[in-house]
Parts: sequence; structure tokens; C-alpha cells
Amino acid sequence: AKKFILEKPFNGAPTEDNFKLLEEELDELNKGEILVEAIWLSVDPYIRPYSNHVSPGTTVMGTQIAKIIKSNNQDYKFGQLVFCSTGWRTFSIINPTTLEKDGMPTFYLLPDFGNLSPSLGLGVLGMPGNTALFGFLNICDPKPGETVVISAAAGAVGIHVGQIARNLGCYVIGFAGSDHKVKWLKEVLKFDAAFNYKTKDVNAALLEAAPHGVDCYFDNVGGDFSSAVIYRMKNFGRVSVCGSISSYNTNPKNLPKVSMLQPAIVFKQLKIEGFIVSRWADKWQSGIERNLNFIKEGKLIYPEYIVQGFESLPQAFIGMLNGENLGKALVKV
Ligand code: NDP
Repeated sequence: AKKFILEKPFNGAPTEDNFKLLEEELDELNKGEILVEAIWLSVDPYIRPYSNHVSPGTTVMGTQIAKIIKSNNQDYKFGQLVFCSTGWRTFSIINPTTLEKDGMPTFYLLPDFGNLSPSLGLGVLGMPGNTALFGFLNICDPKPGETVVISAAAGAVGIHVGQIARNLGCYVIGFAGSDHKVKWLKEVLKFDAAFNYKTKDVNAALLEAAPHGVDCYFDNVGGDFSSAVIYRMKNFGRVSVCGSISSYNTNPKNLPKVSMLQPAIVFKQLKIEGFIVSRWADKWQSGIERNLNFIKEGKLIYPEYIVQGFESLPQAFIGMLNGENLGKALVKV
């Protein structure tokens, strides 16, 4: 079996020498345990900030879709597919009955997706999908006809939020980091407007696309980008703060002081709320079902950016942070 450990703590943007590939011997299964083999591994931004306090030598955190290849537990059978949070490893031994049940789901049998790829359990029918669904609807509370802005709009969560907004009849504006992504958002997802934040001033873009202001902002990015959007909000606008990827490679101690946002928040009477998707852990499976129904109704497309081979995990992760992905970033073992 193989696994990646965090060899050196991250300092700035991750590089390949932060990671080390190791071989490991697998123990015999105890009663109640199952052995699973990874098929798909998820490449997620949270790994960067959440690893700040992880000791070197620890297996890199992460989730996967895996197949049960041996079972000493009568509730689990050979061949079943599971979602599990066992990190960057090819084989994992799990005792499903003794797992922590609080917080983010860490293990479950994959629901039946019909003919769809099990990889969707890491994206649109998993954590990013529930993030988009619950984080957007519950916090932004969007209404038909309202103007919605989405940052990192061509990523896993952003693509999903944009389609929910569009299906509701909102006016959707996306920002992404390349002309190719911008074109795709407009042509394929039919966003009303999209801009490359690397080449277009955010304030100018919003003056052009939303001259009367923004009702809802789904924030994946943070920083100066988001300050500019917040100053273009309408009265009683709502901001769902999902991520702050522009800060993830900066040591929290060295983060610049925040810009002065209070005037916009007070005088426009904004609601700005952060969330972690585990807030809706009790609705996890119903979120997956709702998103599956959207797919079946033809209301949701879900591109995947797939990098081949377990050994490619570090490159895939670095590439995702650099914006190489359009859609959900994954590694296929
Ligand atoms: P994505 O698929 O969106 O991939 C990350 C994208 O972020 C890249 O493709 C890149 O696209 C963009 N990006 C990278 N650096 C910057 C930067 N400095 N400024 C602007 N954009 C940048 O990832 P996810 O959909 O999985 O996650 C999106 C966000 O949602 C992240 O912030 C993540 O941490 C957050 N999240 C939060 C959850 C929660 O519970 N609160 C749960 C899941 C995700 P580009 O080419 O456009 O720059």
C-alpha cells in the first residue's frame, strides 16, 4: 500500500517537496474492520489551511471513494463503494462502528447514483455539492430576479452555485481566473456575465454588469476581491462567506489587516455570514438526493478535472490551487 505524508510544513504555496510517498504494510483485519481500496481521491482547497497545524510525518488529509475488498463486519460486503476520510492512501483499514459521528461525515456507503460515476460522491453529490446547495440557499436566500455574484465561479462549488442561481431566475455574474473559464461560464452555463479577475478590475466589471448593485455574493475567495464586491452590494444584500482561498498560502500571522468594510456593512445593512458545511451534517443525504434530482432533471452539469495516478496527488493539488481545474479536481488511482 502507498500513502503520502506531509514531509515538511507548508510555507507559502505548496511545492512537491512538502509531500513524501511511502510504502506501508497493512495489518490483518480485526473483528468489525473492513479494508478498502481507493478509486478516486478528492483534491480540495481546505487541505492547505487545515494542514497548518498538522505535524510532519502525518498522512495528508483528504477524502476518497473506495471499494471494500475485505470485510470482517457483517454490515459491509465485498465490492460495496464507500466515501471515507482516510487521507491520501491507496488502502485503508476502517472500523465503521467506532468512527466519530459528530461533525463532517467521515464514512458512509455511497448512495446509488444509477449510471453516474461514483466520483461524483466527492463533488456534486458530496461535500462540494452540499456546500453549494446549503451554503447558498440558506445564507444568501436568493430570490428570482436578484443579482448574484460568485467568485472562483468555474470551480466545483462555484459552478454549482451559479447553476442553482440561474435555475432560480437570478441574474448571475461569475469571476474566474482565465479567459477560457470565462468563455465557458458564459457559453455553457449561460451566466449573464463573467469576467477574468486577473485582467479586469472587479469594481469596473460590477459597474458594467450590475450598475444597480449586487443582492447576493457567494464568496469563495476573500481578500481585496471580496472587499470590492461588498462595496457594490445593494441595501440588505447577503454575503455567504464560503472560502477565502486568496489567503490560504499566507501564514495567518502575516495576513494583511482587513480593509475597512464596516461603512458598507452598516450603511447598506448587509448580512455577512461564514459557514462550514458540517453545519448541515444532519441533512447530508437529503442534500445529495436533491442534487441528484437536479442532475436527473437536466438542471445541473458537473465538469470534472481528472488527473491520473495516485502518485500525481501533489501535482494535482498544486495545480488546483493555481486554478488549473475547471470543475471538481480529482485524482483517479
Ligand atoms: P475549486 O474547484 O473552486 O478550486 C479552487 C479554485 O480557486 C481554483 O480553480 C482557482 O480558480 C481559484 N483560486 C485559487 N487561488 C485564487 C486566488 N488567489 N484568488 C481567486 N481565486 C483563486 O475549489 P472548491 O470548489 O472545492 O472550493 C471553492 C472554495 O470553497 C474554496 O475557498 C474552499 O475552501 C471553499 N469551501 C468551503 C467549504 C465550507 O464548508 N465553508 C466547503 C468546500 C469548499 P481561478 O482560475 O478562478 O483562479
